[in-house]
Amino acid sequence: MADTLHLQIITPDKLLVREDVDTVQIPGKNGYLGILPGHAPLITELMIGEISYTQGGTTQYLAVAWGFAEVLSDKVTILADTAERSEDIDVQRAQEAKAKADEALRQAAPDLDYAAVQYAQRRAEVRLEVAARAGHATTAH
Ligand code: ATP
Repeated sequence: MADTLHLQIITPDKLLVREDVDTVQIPGKNGYLGILPGHAPLITELMIGEISYTQGGTTQYLAVAWGFAEVLSDKVTILADTAERSEDIDVQRAQEAKAKADEALRQAAPDLDYAAVQYAQRRAEVRLEVAARAGHATTAH
């Protein structure tokens, strides 16, 4: 059995990650899924959340929103609608997106697309959480 996973994270814009890693955690349809080499094959939808992967004791983080992941025993392929590495997140933009969503939910106009605004709020919150991890890549001792 392989002792690493070949991880690819692809968005419509670019190939964001192509690395051999030790573990991957993804926001699957039924909650966060931790994947180690040798995992049973599966396909899952991705929600709005955080992807993390560990490589030689260092963990990297990305914000993700929607898509699919295919897990094989030695390979994880993520096709994401949007994904950003923690260090690439524009914090001001995410703060503005969150403020706009917060305000729309507070005003609750009759024609408000409630679900769409809640998703926008969640995307912005996750981006802020993941951005806060930039420069704080955790290293196991
Ligand atoms: P906004 O209202 O700021 O556009 P959004 O949640 O509506 O946010 P999305 O539709 O999820 O934006 O994403 C559109 C594109 O912009 C994607 O390529 C996504 O990766 C990128 N993106 C969105 N917000 C940020 C951010 N804060 N930092 C970096 N890239 C971002």
